[in-house]
Amino acid sequence: MTNSLIEFKNISKEYIVGEVPILALNEVNFIIEEGEFVVILGASGAGKSTILNILGGMDIPTSGKVIVEGKVITEFNEKKLTDFRAKDIGFVFQFYNLIPNLTALENVEFAVEVSKNHLNPKETLKKVGLFDRMNNFPSQLSGGEQQRVAIARAIAKNPLLLLCDEPTGALDYKTGKAVLQLLEDINKETKKCVVLITHNSAIAPMADKVIKVKSGVIEDITINKNKKLIKDIEW
Ligand code: ADP
Repeated sequence: MTNSLIEFKNISKEYIVGEVPILALNEVNFIIEEGEFVVILGASGAGKSTILNILGGMDIPTSGKVIVEGKVITEFNEKKLTDFRAKDIGFVFQFYNLIPNLTALENVEFAVEVSKNHLNPKETLKKVGLFDRMNNFPSQLSGGEQQRVAIARAIAKNPLLLLCDEPTGALDYKTGKAVLQLLEDINKETKKCVVLITHNSAIAPMADKVIKVKSGVIEDITINKNKKLIKDIEW
């Protein structure tokens, strides 16, 4: 037994498209420790989203085990997996995925309904710098502001894990950097584990651990002994 927060053990994922099987992940192994900021790095099609979706209980592997806090989530039934997604996972998407007809505050309030020990939605919006915009609808907010609402929505649930799928992919350089700064601050302050996928290798130095994926296999896992602050990284 180890005390790692997450273990991916021999995870393979095969998609069948027509008659052709696509091996999206091939015997992937890694561990993530409590409090780590992890970057999963790889080119488009490498298998990053597949890893994140399996980690978040949104997809199931063809073979292998995922263990989170000692629980084998790949053996969960539908009900337990739904609970896991609702309570333990905060997900941040590339295109924010806010509910357009709810205000920023309502988006956060709606998300925390499923969670018992959630944080105060208004306080959380304040933390991401949007206290004075909480009654705006997503269409009234810039891309960077919408992503801040999405981050507030994810962290307000007080989840075990924050999973971020190319969270700066739709943002300009400066706004993207501010969003990464926010994620760095959250990781530091709350000690919550953040897993972020990206194709941008320039971001890698901000991570405690970098997991490189190529064509469905782990190419390399690096621990950054001297990780850099996002403010000191340029690309
Ligand atoms: P990345 O996130 O690194 O761009 P993905 O995890 O999305 O990569 O995809 C890995 C591989 O699996 C790709 O070849 C992709 O086309 C394939 N794939 C992903 N999702 C599906 C799916 N639902 N059906 C079929 N193939 C898929």
